Amino acid sequence: MKAQYARKTCVEVDNKSLGAKTDDKVESPTSSMDAGDKAPQQQSIPPKGDGLQRFTNMNLTDLLFVEIFAGTARLSKAVKELGVEVLPVDKTSARASQIYIAQYDLTDTAQMEDFMEVLEVEKRRILAIHLAPACGTASKAREKKLASWAKKGFKIPKPLRSAQKPMGVDGLEGLDKIRAETANLVYAATARIISFCVQHGIVCSVENPENSLFWLFPEIQQIMQSIGGFSISFHNCMHGGKRKKLTKWWATQGVFSSLQSLCDDKHQHAKWNPIQQGSALQFPTAEEAAYPHLLCKRIAAVLQQYAITNGALVVDTLGAQLSTTTSTSQRWILDMLPKGKKLKPLVSEFQSYSFSWSTHHRSPKVHHFFSNN
Ligand SMILES: [Zn+2]
Repeated sequence: MKAQYARKTCVEVDNKSLGAKTDDKVESPTSSMDAGDKAPQQQSIPPKGDGLQRFTNMNLTDLLFVEIFAGTARLSKAVKELGVEVLPVDKTSARASQIYIAQYDLTDTAQMEDFMEVLEVEKRRILAIHLAPACGTASKAREKKLASWAKKGFKIPKPLRSAQKPMGVDGLEGLDKIRAETANLVYAATARIISFCVQHGIVCSVENPENSLFWLFPEIQQIMQSIGGFSISFHNCMHGGKRKKLTKWWATQGVFSSLQSLCDDKHQHAKWNPIQQGSALQFPTAEEAAYPHLLCKRIAAVLQQYAITNGALVVDTLGAQLSTTTSTSQRWILDMLPKGKKLKPLVSEFQSYSFSWSTHHRSPKVHHFFSNN
């Protein structure tokens, strides 16, 4: 998702945030439906039996996954592996590598409006939107007793919020006050984007630690209560993480239920103890902020299934893709083969696929298939 793309479809959008485009997107096959906002209103759950589903007549490669507060954007990378176009968004691209981050600061009013316009233009082909608002100021880890480190003279983070004061405890000042207020704007932006998704029938998921005070933020609590939604919990260690971190994954639709998984304590966990880095303490919560790769793969698989269930076509060969795709075939004819994973290779990468069972908290071990062949 880069500037040329933005010029094609988001003419009103400030291109500075989208950077330079060099590759694959010409025009969404659905953009004509978006013109003048004549697209039929989507419903949260597609009605059964009428033959028209959310992604009917669209290829998986026509769809767009939006990851907001993306950080390392690992989830976007995993979804991109499916051939789905991705739009990872964050204030900075500092934590991400080998993926383009659209830089929007959603605490800035003008940039938030620009971004909402992008969503408005793209809404018809959005597969799902995921938000991972920073939980640093809402973290229960701040309440941990770290007296022994305090005695040694280390600065210990203090609670910035409480269940009674989820917008910030009284008496905050300096950097703590700024951090809490900035996070409040992030949470308000999150609530607005959830509301947008509900309005347009787009799957929206939100992740934070189960015990994060984010879930008690008034606008978040209000919208979750009004929607109801679907909430699951899992320990990250059950999806490839190092630590027994309890994560809550809330969504507007019940598409993530298979990820519910609590730790069976049949494996080792890395410790939560802070590590001394020079004169400061390094907390492992920062390390745990990036989603485990296995979790990302599983979420991508869930989203792929959701897309297929809602009528999206998955094509395995270039021939099949060209016969069903309108958006890229013209470029193919013009010998302007896009880069990336948009088009299938002329010759399939694999001869066949094998399926195997695996324990829940680990990636499938496939090496014995190779050794047997
Ligand atoms: Zn575990």
